[in-house]
Amino acid sequence: MTETITHFIDGARTPDAGGRHQPVTNPATGAQTGTVALASAAETARAVASAREAQRDWAAKTPLARARVMFNYKALIERHRDEIAALISRQHGKLLADARGEVTRGLEVVEFACGAPHLLKGEYSPQVGTDVDSFSMRQPLGVCAGLTPFNFPAMVPMWMFPVALVCGNTFVLKPSERDPAAPMFLAELMMEAGAPAGVLNVVNGDKEAVDALLTHPEVQAVSFVGSTPVAEYVYSQGSAHGKRVQALGGAKNHAVVMPDADMEQAADALLGGAYGSAGERCMSVSAVVAVGEAGDRFMETFAPKVRNLRVGPYDDPDADMGPLITAEHLAKVRNYVDIGVQEGAELVVDGRDLRLQGYESGNFLGGCLFDRVTADMRIYQEEIFGPVLSVLRADSFEAALALVNGHPYGNGTAIFTRDGDAARAYSSRVQAGMVGVNVPIPVPMAFHSFGGWKRSAFGDHGAHGPEGVHFYTKLKTVTQRWPSGVREGAKFVMPTMG
Ligand code: NAD
Repeated sequence: MTETITHFIDGARTPDAGGRHQPVTNPATGAQTGTVALASAAETARAVASAREAQRDWAAKTPLARARVMFNYKALIERHRDEIAALISRQHGKLLADARGEVTRGLEVVEFACGAPHLLKGEYSPQVGTDVDSFSMRQPLGVCAGLTPFNFPAMVPMWMFPVALVCGNTFVLKPSERDPAAPMFLAELMMEAGAPAGVLNVVNGDKEAVDALLTHPEVQAVSFVGSTPVAEYVYSQGSAHGKRVQALGGAKNHAVVMPDADMEQAADALLGGAYGSAGERCMSVSAVVAVGEAGDRFMETFAPKVRNLRVGPYDDPDADMGPLITAEHLAKVRNYVDIGVQEGAELVVDGRDLRLQGYESGNFLGGCLFDRVTADMRIYQEEIFGPVLSVLRADSFEAALALVNGHPYGNGTAIFTRDGDAARAYSSRVQAGMVGVNVPIPVPMAFHSFGGWKRSAFGDHGAHGPEGVHFYTKLKTVTQRWPSGVREGAKFVMPTMG
């Protein structure tokens, strides 16, 4: 029996209203497990209306009261961690342990949001002029919307709504239509935590729901995470309709391996960094730039590890990675491997022939490894979003840095070296938003902020952390003087304080 996933509006799952639907599948078997309703513009507007209605009372609560709801939410996420992970894995295909890790990274943002009273403190300056004081406060925007990708169906929504909510906003989430179960459950738990109906709504859907949110006059801000073409569209449409927009896009994350690196450590780190979650992470390493004689040594150490990768369904405790999200995406990634071969790159490990007994219709692809990739190749220029790693060779640190900085994407990057000077120069000069030193996937913790540069992000402010608080609030500064009995009369020139 298949389930139908609808929407979560005004504190409850909506009945199925007919309309458009799309299949939801199990990526390991290819079998359809349910359908998801695709919201119309009218249904999306209902969610916005519910959020609008709830916002005034929610914003009037003290930050402490909102934080206490978040403390309850934290406890509920901890209690249901395995259940949420299972919902993720069944529709996304990632390994259960990886899904648990995803929930934990989302939970960390909830923990950050529990500090709302501290996060929302303003600044105060007494005596900015004689008997004049000035102070600032951060106020909510109103209704905020979140548009999220398939690859982190729990974590990426949790980058957004916990911070938005504790700042006094209400929220409409439009998660990926490919794995909508976990976000629906997250919204239910928010009600259980004590948030009033309408504070967090979920509309499932596609471009129709997205466009309805981007043009709705009551939506004040839009947070987007997904591919670069859609990020750019959301940024331009949302901005044109007067909204504050942060739009995080795709990536081609480079790791530079210097000749003095601990090659075994670098190879192990990059194996997980490139092939974990079948490469379907925006921070996955997809290009290694090996400097000088590091090239041959890296390939000798790394290639056997790629050959030994174990691929399996999400509940196989021995698997290193699972399937790709859909059959279409598998075909796209396989096509990139074909393109790489045609372009003349050396396919050192070919995962295209992988067949798993009992899972013949699953979206599985073995790890693929290209050597001697060059900067003009499509497999280097474009985001593949699968278990395919390109290795490029560079003569020097400067040549490697120029290659990384010349790439259109600038999400995350890493350098593997024992040389502090090289690491420092790389961290300071590289054109990317997140940098790792001997750390393959340098995802900032919840109390820092996440965000890329160049074509990996459009708009201001990163996700979560202090940047998230700034994104979801408006700054107001008050300058005040109390009547003192001294009357100065009208003034017609700019006052100078002092
Ligand atoms: P996607 O761009 O296809 O979808 C993201 C969201 O946009 C979904 O909610 C989807 O329904 C909606 N959408 C899709 N097409 C649309 C259109 N034409 N008009 C309006 N809305 C549309 O991305 P995806 O395939 O779900 O996720 C993978 C992508 O996300 C990769 O490119 C990956 O790098 C990126 N990503 C980036 C980050 C980051 O932090 N920078 C994090 C995770 C994923």
